[in-house]
Amino acid sequence: MARIHRFLAILGVVLVVLAATTTIAYTNIAFTQASSSPKNIILIIGDGTSFSHIRLAQLAYGKLALEYFTDVGIVFTDSLTGEVPDSAATATAMATGIKTENGMIAMVPVDGKTVSVMTLVELAQKLGKSTGIITTTRITHATPAAFASHVPSRRMEAEIAVQLVESGVDVLLGGGLRYFDEALLEKAREYGYTVVFNRTQLLEVKSGKILGLFASSHIPYVLDRDKYEDVPSLVDMVAKAIDVLDDNPNGFFLMVEAGRVDHAAHSNDAATLAAEAKELDDVIALALNYALTRGDTLIVITADHETGGTAVGGYGYGQTINFTLLLNVKASSEYMGNLILGGADPKEVIKEYTGIEITDEEAQAILDALNVNKYAGYTEIGRTISKYIGVAFATSKHTGQPIPVFAYGPGSKLFTGLFHQTEIGRRLAKLMLFGLTEPTTEITIAFSPIPGDVNGDGIVDAEDAYIVLTTFLGEKVDSTIERRIDMNNNGIIDLEDVYLIYTGNYGKALTPTLYPEALEIIRR
Ligand SMILES: [Zn+2]
Repeated sequence: MARIHRFLAILGVVLVVLAATTTIAYTNIAFTQASSSPKNIILIIGDGTSFSHIRLAQLAYGKLALEYFTDVGIVFTDSLTGEVPDSAATATAMATGIKTENGMIAMVPVDGKTVSVMTLVELAQKLGKSTGIITTTRITHATPAAFASHVPSRRMEAEIAVQLVESGVDVLLGGGLRYFDEALLEKAREYGYTVVFNRTQLLEVKSGKILGLFASSHIPYVLDRDKYEDVPSLVDMVAKAIDVLDDNPNGFFLMVEAGRVDHAAHSNDAATLAAEAKELDDVIALALNYALTRGDTLIVITADHETGGTAVGGYGYGQTINFTLLLNVKASSEYMGNLILGGADPKEVIKEYTGIEITDEEAQAILDALNVNKYAGYTEIGRTISKYIGVAFATSKHTGQPIPVFAYGPGSKLFTGLFHQTEIGRRLAKLMLFGLTEPTTEITIAFSPIPGDVNGDGIVDAEDAYIVLTTFLGEKVDSTIERRIDMNNNGIIDLEDVYLIYTGNYGKALTPTLYPEALEIIRR
């Protein structure tokens, strides 16, 4: 029987990376040419953040750190549910390299069951790296949750809190204190976490594991932080995390979420979303400055999906956005909505925090919407103010618009082009396991009776793991071939199978035997 060869000519670009002599001028720090595999990976996710949000932040606040990135791609975000995804499915796609249904957290439907699949954070831990998860939402919210917990529904935030404490992730920073009772906080301390609740306490931590919970629910919006005491910014949190995590000689994997661009877009609140997107960019500047001095750190910046159907303008040809008005807004529509819910007059509140005098009809529409529910009210306030500013929204929900990805550092070229969101997880896993090394010759797929021996050479090793990662990840197990690579027997080929094969050198050379099922490979 003929052996089946599959030429994996994926990446001539690796040579380009090694040969590149790019120079990036940024805040006068010398550019260190990346020449090896990334030791550290910083994945920065702007929840709900797409092209329009970035453009609004740039028009409002000036040049962005993002503009220094030359390796840029475009990502499709659809989930198994459809073309309009949620953050649970999209974060799972990035964290595991496998698509799932909306609402599921690092779990995937397989034959009527819902099974857990390994995440990048868990893979990084297995590889001896330090890990961190940071967000401005509740730490139990969908995006952070999908990197280190496994539940069939994102609503199971109490269960997610327990799993996060047990995850062993070194740095966990965000909101969501309400899901951590005293017993769980005590458990976290027993596991070695320093538990902190405000900016002052966070800045005092010098090393070790940190659990920081800075709000009962989400961390206040940038525009509202001056109304609260001692709340860290996203920049504060990321600076502390990098400082603590980079003590590990094996490097670190850090996921940072600017989680509230999404919320501001749900509220159609242009001023708040521009401020949140600017904070995202401030964190990007921090990460880029760190990476520029080193050459061993890969930064990947992306979103999970678009929110709001946000327009840059959108009110007629030639009508420009009033950025003076936008920058004069001093509170989010959420903050103003809560004041109105507390009995304040809508016209007075909006005048005080935006300088805008709304009409009686607009005030009544806001009161009516707040009567329906608070979120409808926040959106009515946001939409009203954004109309004065000149920024239109198509919806208060998510859309299926593609989103951007930007990368800098070793392996950054892997994130250029047009691809599905799962590729972010797959390519990051590939970099963690194989670095920039790519096979230079044909790789054979030819199964032996040894579980995991995909190339049929009688040894289970990294080459087999490479084939499984690049060819089989996400496949439901429905053939003898797939059963022999489903090392953890969960019914789907996931990163854990890749990892087990990567480390599972059985070392017993048997004569490779080909199986008819190998022919199935041809359909790929
Ligand atoms: Zn959302």
